[in-house]
Amino acid sequence: MPRAYGIIGWPLGHTMSPALHNWGFAELGLDAHYTAWPLEPTDLPAFMERVRAEPIHGLSVTIPHKRAVMAHLDRISDRARAIGAVNTVYWDGKALYGENTDVIGVVAPLRGLDPLPRSAMVLGAGGAARAAVAGFLELGIPRVAVANRTQAKAEALAADFGVACVRWDERMDADWELICNTTPLGMSGDLEGRTPWNADRFATGAVAYDIVYNPLETRFLAEAGAAGCRTVSGLEMFLHQGLAQFRLWTGQDMDEAGARRLLLAALRS
Ligand code: NAP
Repeated sequence: MPRAYGIIGWPLGHTMSPALHNWGFAELGLDAHYTAWPLEPTDLPAFMERVRAEPIHGLSVTIPHKRAVMAHLDRISDRARAIGAVNTVYWDGKALYGENTDVIGVVAPLRGLDPLPRSAMVLGAGGAARAAVAGFLELGIPRVAVANRTQAKAEALAADFGVACVRWDERMDADWELICNTTPLGMSGDLEGRTPWNADRFATGAVAYDIVYNPLETRFLAEAGAAGCRTVSGLEMFLHQGLAQFRLWTGQDMDEAGARRLLLAALRS
């Protein structure tokens, strides 16, 4: 029997995770298979019993289970505890661990930047924004701020992490060296073509980071590129959170360049 891995979420729309991990298993000759498991919230406790009994060797966890799954684990990393969400479940010996590789995914594409941005504006205050704020603090960016359409959520996030909170209508009033969109504005569907930033408000030399990866080049990134900014696509975050999961599950590294080519081909098809 191949070792079982998979993703749980509800509703579980199209996800590139099965393609990514099954490609990695095949490349490394591992006898393992990754499945998409749509799972209603009421079925989570029974499913987590199944994870222990079978066992299932690793899980990706997405909305709405990222917080609820924590009650079913033996250990939770400091990083996952700080942002209040687990996106990866793995075994360490007989203990079931929870980690958050979204934070690893957010920071990985920024690690090579020299110099590191000295300020970051995070747009949005949902789960991805929490990962971004935690990641930017982990990276050592000295001035991190958050702005959100619903002010109370931005204030709560800012208080949790000890960062600044800026009003949504004042978000473009300062010259941020890193601007990170974690809202779905610009995503394919109804929000495609929308952007959270004005084209003439990008500071010279800034880095524009969009967490949205479909389309690959959002309006936010296109306008940032035209303004001379460095741009980072959400595909990089998706890729690196997946590479980190694979490492936790198998102890091995998936080929990064090959995995990127696979994801780019999937998004362009
Ligand atoms: P979430 O928890 O639902 O948060 C969404 C945030 O976006 C909220 O702060 C919300 O503001 C804001 N927002 C929604 N619609 C908006 C609009 N029309 N105008 C302004 N703000 C708006 O979602 P999430 O889990 O953080 O995910 C956010 C995005 O990140 C999604 O597009 C998701 O696909 C993407 N994502 C990408 C990766 C990756 O690997 N690249 C990983 C995780 C998530 P309010 O509080 O006012 O509602």
